[in-house]
Amino acid sequence: MAQGIRRPHEAIDFAAIERMYPPPPEYFETAYFEDRETIERKQLARLIDRAWRAYEIPFHRNRWDAAGFHPSHLKTLDDLWKCPSYTVDDIRISIDNNPPYGDYQGVTPALATREPMRVYMSGGTTGKSRPTFYTAWDRMAGAVFTARALYQLGIRPGDVVLNSWAYSTHNGAMCFDEALYSWLNCVVLTTSTGNVTSTEKQVELAIQYGATAILTTGDYLFRIAEVARSLGYDPEKDLKIRALPNIGDADLLSSTFGAPYYRSYGFHEVQWVASECEMHDGLHIYEDGFIVQVVDVETGEPLPDGSLGSLCVTELYKTGTAQFRYNILDLSYLYPKGQCGCGSWLRKIGPFAGRGDNMVKLRGVNLWPEGVGEVACSVSGTLPDYFVTASRVNNRDELSIIVVSGRDSSQFADIQAEVERVLHGRFGLKISASVVRPGEIDHLTEFLTSPKPKRFKDERGG
Ligand SMILES: [Zn+2]
Repeated sequence: MAQGIRRPHEAIDFAAIERMYPPPPEYFETAYFEDRETIERKQLARLIDRAWRAYEIPFHRNRWDAAGFHPSHLKTLDDLWKCPSYTVDDIRISIDNNPPYGDYQGVTPALATREPMRVYMSGGTTGKSRPTFYTAWDRMAGAVFTARALYQLGIRPGDVVLNSWAYSTHNGAMCFDEALYSWLNCVVLTTSTGNVTSTEKQVELAIQYGATAILTTGDYLFRIAEVARSLGYDPEKDLKIRALPNIGDADLLSSTFGAPYYRSYGFHEVQWVASECEMHDGLHIYEDGFIVQVVDVETGEPLPDGSLGSLCVTELYKTGTAQFRYNILDLSYLYPKGQCGCGSWLRKIGPFAGRGDNMVKLRGVNLWPEGVGEVACSVSGTLPDYFVTASRVNNRDELSIIVVSGRDSSQFADIQAEVERVLHGRFGLKISASVVRPGEIDHLTEFLTSPKPKRFKDERGG
């Protein structure tokens, strides 16, 4: 052994990960069916462990001390509500005051010889990048949750999978890579995006290797289908796609590729949190790794089950940087506790319903651009692609939406009128619409270059 260096295989106890956080397929035969008492007993023990660890990190300790919270206060799961939450704004301040990593990390690069680690960043396009350091354990345990989600989508051990996400500073591509390779025993073909491996080449590779999934956005999958057709292939018959990505138009993806569509939810700092079962009614939270609360977007106060609010997530699996009551500002709601039709007692959340920090108050009505987009794109003649802008006109906030249509431009005026009528009917407000051809808003949505298409721009200024 090299002096003082601890290698990844020495830093990760694989047997412990498998025991604590069973990977698929075992998970779906074991922990997935545990009763509430067992689930919550494990959660409480792990929560207390995580709280003591988080308390060693200045960011959390300072906030908790100021709020009068201490890890010893955690006697039941409900006590978690006594702990203050934080948002991305607090992370930004932490980085400003303690550049370049902030004081919210559980490790520093100087520890890398003892604690093998990786760093990924989010938010690079607007403002400063927000790094998250992952220990080797955090990567490997986190990959279990991603593997569970991929298994739920329909990916099976032994499959060949194209990973068409951009390998970049962002967590996305690598977290899929690690999950597919380390826990699902899939063959990963790392094509990256169309800028790295041409779409024609991606189509050829997927067919030659019999790939069962192409991991990318729904929008890029549609482009792959389009190119496949132009090369003389039938996307449903010649591509063997069995699992679809979790971002995109569900019905159109299903009918294009002849595969079922399942929703799932995850984010940069923690990998995957929840995925849909065959009942297609809510996403089961991986409760051995997470506690998910739903809070009011504006006040942070608890909301009753079924109410749309912001997800506040506490991870229960890491050894490095802690996410402890992280108010992620993704909108969803909790299902009441109870047994699902699939047999699982794991709590469920609704599908991702937009970003809380994009909320626009228009004449007293709270609107989310994603909600407006979903309603607009339900109008016949529109494609699942849109861009919403908030602006200030004559001292009034206004919202406008651009929708995309593949129809002849002579129909655009009718489509525009229908979108405005449907939006007015749904929200009781005038939201102006315009219609453009496919591709004309790509520079706004950045869908070829960004891991998630952008759907909203706020032009109201301070
Ligand atoms: Zn279920």
